[in-house]
Amino acid sequence: TVRTRFAPSPTGFLHLGGARTALYSWAFARHFGGTFILRVEDTDLERSTPEAVQAILDGMRWLELTPDEGPFFQMQRMDRYREVIAQMLAAGSAYHCYSSPAEIEAMRERARAEGRKPRYDGTWRPEPGKVLPPIPEGRKPVVRFRNPLDGEVAWDDMVKGPISFANTELDDLIIARPDGTPTYNFCVVVDDWDMRITHVIRGDDHVNNTPRQINILRALGAEPPQYGHVPMILGPDGEKLSKRHGAVSVMQYDEQGYLPEAMVNYLARLGWSHGDDELFSRQQLVEWFDTRNLSRSAAQWDPKKLNWVNAHYIKHSADEDLARRVAPRIGKRGGSVQGVDLPAVMALLKQRAETLEQLADEAMLFCAPFDPAATPPELVAQHLTDGARAILRDFAGRAAGIEWTREAIAALMKEVLAAHGVKMPALGIPLRVAVTGRAQTPAIDAVLALLGKDAVVARLHGI
Ligand code: GLU
Repeated sequence: TVRTRFAPSPTGFLHLGGARTALYSWAFARHFGGTFILRVEDTDLERSTPEAVQAILDGMRWLELTPDEGPFFQMQRMDRYREVIAQMLAAGSAYHCYSSPAEIEAMRERARAEGRKPRYDGTWRPEPGKVLPPIPEGRKPVVRFRNPLDGEVAWDDMVKGPISFANTELDDLIIARPDGTPTYNFCVVVDDWDMRITHVIRGDDHVNNTPRQINILRALGAEPPQYGHVPMILGPDGEKLSKRHGAVSVMQYDEQGYLPEAMVNYLARLGWSHGDDELFSRQQLVEWFDTRNLSRSAAQWDPKKLNWVNAHYIKHSADEDLARRVAPRIGKRGGSVQGVDLPAVMALLKQRAETLEQLADEAMLFCAPFDPAATPPELVAQHLTDGARAILRDFAGRAAGIEWTREAIAALMKEVLAAHGVKMPALGIPLRVAVTGRAQTPAIDAVLALLGKDAVVARLHGI
């Protein structure tokens, strides 16, 4: 059965690239009815604070990428890594290397001088019949993996196709430091092995680690998983996506009013395709997901397209859901939803909003006390002329007698237009300015209906 993992190194937030590989690993596992595992690679103690770990979990929860197993933490598996290192030393697939840092540096110098790729010269590598040098007194050894000397490591990458490395390109990798702590590539190998990972989907910045990891797995007698290396995400300018391009943390998109379902759709499509489909549900993604349709070339972050996708999901959200999501944002703006039919407000506003923040901004029309003194004076001068005031007063007078529905208000507006022999803008714009302080609003009949008759009439009498 399929077992995939997402293996973030906590950096303080879940970034877009990480979220996307997590999403692919999740969708792949779900597609095959397999298991999705979360493994936190927290061995960099300076960066891996509890807050940084929490930030990853928050991001995954927001995107609803729920792991079936984990989170596992590498820091809690140190004993296991040491155990495997001891086994490898005993089996001869790893060895103690006592070369000093100065000696290693000298090897590098020589290689550079001779125009070779610097590599460990094998001084401490045991070979049949070879006599090793005497162990320098008091020196703590590193542990090196005994990499094969010839042949090649090849795999058929699920994204990039066949890849191979000559073993002569690969050094005898250090798998434990002088203090005994295991190194990054080694922990990954033991974890993927112990967690019985069948498919590794990760960023292509790890392509160079893969041959080393495969060799170690083989030395352990393990079958390597299949690997798929996903190209990185570029900014709109073609450079590697970074803070310069705007938010790179998934949770910042939550703050900015993006819906998690829009984010999932957008991130999935960024580097993966299903024909010409741009909009698909989480369920469709799971149904359709296939590593064959992962793109081999780098994807480009496109904020306009993200907004378009988000607008789509907002438009198709239930009004109650939007109200629930927007209410706290209204609170943050100092507004109150008391006595406001917020779902009805959402129904009106959602047709044109790109983000929940825009919805909240617009909704303030209905959730904050109206202060006519805050209307820009130039709007008053231009639109609340004596003639316009007379029309508005007439409208207010007739309003008393009607049922306050959008339809009735629209009919009343027609009636007033006819009575004064004017066209729609001559009533619509002064109405907006008088009642909302703005010359542009969503459909004014709907706005008036939502504001309520008393508020509207009071505002019109206040001009
Ligand atoms: N921890 C690595 C990273 O955050 C990923 C390692 C892997 O997927 O093998 O880049």
